[in-house]
Amino acid sequence: MPPARPEVPAERERPALAGADDLCEECTLTVSMDDLVALCKRRGFIFPASELYQGINGFWDYGPLGTELKNNLRDAWWHDMVRCPPLGPDGTPLSIVGVDTAIIQNPRVWEASGHVGGFNDPMVDCRETKNRYRHDHLMVLRHRDDATVPMFAFMEGEPEAVHKKLKKLAKGRELDEFETLALTELAVADFAHVIGPDAKAAGTLTEPRQFNLMFKTYVGAVQNEDSIAYLRPETAQGIFLNYKNVLDTMRVKVPFGIAQIGKAFRNEVTPRNYIFRSREFEQMEMEWFCHPDDAKTWHEFWCKQRGQWWQSVGLRSDDLQLRPHEADELAHYAKGGAGTFDIEYRFPFTAPGYGELEGVAHRVDFDLKQHQEHAKSKLQYFDAERKERYLPHVIEPAGGLTRGVLAVLCEAYTADPERPSKVYMKFHPRLAPIKAAIFPLVAKEGMPEMAHKLYQELRTRYAVEIDVKQAVGKRYARMDEAGTPYCFTIDGDSLGDQTVTVRDRDTAGQQRIAIDKVGDFLAERMR
Ligand code: ATP
Repeated sequence: MPPARPEVPAERERPALAGADDLCEECTLTVSMDDLVALCKRRGFIFPASELYQGINGFWDYGPLGTELKNNLRDAWWHDMVRCPPLGPDGTPLSIVGVDTAIIQNPRVWEASGHVGGFNDPMVDCRETKNRYRHDHLMVLRHRDDATVPMFAFMEGEPEAVHKKLKKLAKGRELDEFETLALTELAVADFAHVIGPDAKAAGTLTEPRQFNLMFKTYVGAVQNEDSIAYLRPETAQGIFLNYKNVLDTMRVKVPFGIAQIGKAFRNEVTPRNYIFRSREFEQMEMEWFCHPDDAKTWHEFWCKQRGQWWQSVGLRSDDLQLRPHEADELAHYAKGGAGTFDIEYRFPFTAPGYGELEGVAHRVDFDLKQHQEHAKSKLQYFDAERKERYLPHVIEPAGGLTRGVLAVLCEAYTADPERPSKVYMKFHPRLAPIKAAIFPLVAKEGMPEMAHKLYQELRTRYAVEIDVKQAVGKRYARMDEAGTPYCFTIDGDSLGDQTVTVRDRDTAGQQRIAIDKVGDFLAERMR
């Protein structure tokens, strides 16, 4: 996405998400990030990258359960956008095809897209701590009446740190004597009175400076200016580069979409909040090519669709909002169009505010025009029905896959002091890494054999596990933390009446069903 985009503050007004007008104001999240991170590590969802070597900031590895969860979210998006796209306003299925393009492209691509010249975030350095911050990520506490009291800078969304500091450095002052404002609202001359987030002295923050977010590398044996290339900072440009190839090879007509899921890399100044802002992440992007006159209608259509999709994979409407970009937030390419709407989620570290999950932008004809000019290649579309030649406008729903995984993890985390595990992960069955577990109650009297037979039947269709060890309560606890929606237990009665006990993860309720109905039972619930 967008070169040069100021980040919006975490707390803001909340217009209703399309289709979910009566949102409740209560925050429904029950999770603290520390607890979530601990569970993800304990259960093999996510690990710090290079942990053996003290890690590397901004990079994460996905363990066995995390990989399944991420793949399930990815596959759900691909299915609902490419294999079986939504019905259009006239009731006919939309036409969307998929591509998988190279991470490294000709560097001229990024000149045309504006990333080489403009993919910059202004940053401030702290001379005392040597830390670097995004200018638009810092907030300050300023005393309302007394200008001799220093101002305290803190990272947006991390106010605890400043409370501690206030106690230490401004003894006798109460928090309500201060007002909060964004660092961007202060003149640089006033930085002299600001104490940086981890600093002790005032005046150590530098003026904001531009910092290019693209990772550079060299292609080929010779490393010089001419062999510089970039790791893609977004998947979108690979789509624009193949717009003509798709038109020439597939039977698509405007309006149509091209979708891609893949890795993107940004040398973020301050990677933080776990996998929310990392330096290597995955995106799910679709470029919808349409006639300029229809762009506004399609923009509304996609905003609504995408909000509903996130709800369909289990994010509650209470924690989602659709927010229009302010005029000063709009990326250069989105000017003059229907604007950009962000679909935002209330993460624990943004609550009671929201953080971006997906942007739905009207990119007008910016990208095709740029590539047409820079590559000197005609990219106009001839519309046989309208008898008109034009550059299509583009509506872009651009979502984060890895950021989506974080939202799904936050939403799923459900504390329950009554259970041995004290917590269970309430994943939508479609996303659950393990769909069902099979337990023989004891490892004797024919139960393991019966369990293995059921496991052999189910494993070809679903991600299922068989677990024969430990007390059954411990096995349930393990599956609760993994977010497995159903556990089938084979007990003493099973051999006689060919039934099993199904235990429901969310209610912990149990029922008995015939063993030959287990497949149908799961099929019905996985839809
Ligand atoms: P942000 O304002 O949070 O930096 P952005 O507006 O630059 O995000 P886009 O360029 O529109 O984001 O990218 C589309 C999506 O990719 C975002 O909505 C987000 O879900 C995801 N994304 C962007 N940057 C990161 C990152 N550093 N780590 C994880 N996901 C990211």
